[in-house]
Amino acid sequence: MLIPGVIPKEEPLLRVGIILPEDKKKSVSLKISNQKTCLFYCDDKETSLPVDGKLKIMYSANALEISGIENSREIQNIKLVQQNQNDFILVEKVVAGRGFHWLKEIPVKLPHTIEIELKDNFLMLLNELPLETYLACVATSEMGAECPDSFIEAQTIVARSWMLANVEQKHVHLGFDVCNDDCCQRYQGVNNLTDKSREGALKTSGLVLMYQNKICDARYSKSCGGVMEKFENLWENKPLPYMQNIPDAEIPFNVDLSREEEMEEWVKESPRTFCSPHYIPEEDLKKYLGDVDESGHYFRWTIEVSQKELITNLNEKLGLNATSVISLIPLKRGGSGRLLELEIKYKNNKNESLSVIIEKDYEVRRVLHKNFLFSSAIVIEEIKNEHSMVPDAFIFKGAGWGHGAGLCQIGALGMALNGFGVKEIVTHYYPGSKLVKIY
Ligand SMILES: [Zn+2]
Ligand SMILES: [Zn+2]
Repeated sequence: MLIPGVIPKEEPLLRVGIILPEDKKKSVSLKISNQKTCLFYCDDKETSLPVDGKLKIMYSANALEISGIENSREIQNIKLVQQNQNDFILVEKVVAGRGFHWLKEIPVKLPHTIEIELKDNFLMLLNELPLETYLACVATSEMGAECPDSFIEAQTIVARSWMLANVEQKHVHLGFDVCNDDCCQRYQGVNNLTDKSREGALKTSGLVLMYQNKICDARYSKSCGGVMEKFENLWENKPLPYMQNIPDAEIPFNVDLSREEEMEEWVKESPRTFCSPHYIPEEDLKKYLGDVDESGHYFRWTIEVSQKELITNLNEKLGLNATSVISLIPLKRGGSGRLLELEIKYKNNKNESLSVIIEKDYEVRRVLHKNFLFSSAIVIEEIKNEHSMVPDAFIFKGAGWGHGAGLCQIGALGMALNGFGVKEIVTHYYPGSKLVKIY
């Protein structure tokens, strides 16, 4: 595992959570691609693999059991070590889009080492592999294989920096560095691994972004919507000089989207930013984006949420007893237009008028939509007819997709397609940072 605050001098091994206790799995099926070069251990004891290379592992009475293998009861820990780097183990049914509306289960091919153990009454499956192999896989899982080289290389440098800055450590209590999903970085093993992404990792091997002797906490999202968001507006109140409100554009412009009137104009416009259709037509995005995304609009979009749907969301997610929503009032925005405070005025089942204030971009996105709102950079309009006391529905007109801080993936793609190089891309999104080779 990575050690917080320590800059590695050689390529580290990374532990990735593939099946987590929260997936609530009691069994898992594996298929080994090359049994001759795969070592198999049950509780550290070397064991021979079944002739067909197929393993079905089940949770049974606080232990693991392997179907078809004699004396395989009471196992606590299974380890498979593939000695050939092109081999893989196929794991059926791995969750992709955990907690999101696009959640599905996909087969995943994992290289190097696999460990299976018990955790909180369920199975947990981990993949341990060298960081550069992981990064090559992440680049293709996050984006399609047709991406231009400078984009893949920029994405790899950013992913490596974020990984090694290792600030979030969301899963350290479970004994791994990152999970396989959007919560950390999307990793689908070697499923879509291409020569191009292997090259991208190889060419940039050991290269990270640094700011004052520290590796940058290089967060990224799908689309900033035209202006990047500041770090401290989204996460803890600790400004990072390389994550500011900056137009995602070739020709800088002045806009203050924390001001309501400017934001209202902004979502209706199509400014010339790298993530806009001026640099990359939205219908072309499909061939560059990874396969778990919903296709659609990322730069500017509109959705309608009915009064009834909104009441359900608020009651479910905030535990309110709302019977009607009277109004949604933006109180505070970041420089990218993302909502940092939103007031919700509503009536409860005793017909009392109440109000609740939602803080932070993430919370706003969580509560306003049954799945998750694409972005909190929205202006809100009401649909109301002359007879109704409260709005029949709310219209959200939005900009961007995701938190909008750091590298804007669609913007970086727009830059790469228009001839910008790796260094220009990364220093545009993390100004003041330097590219440094650490191993
Ligand atoms: Zn995670
Ligand atoms: Zn952008």
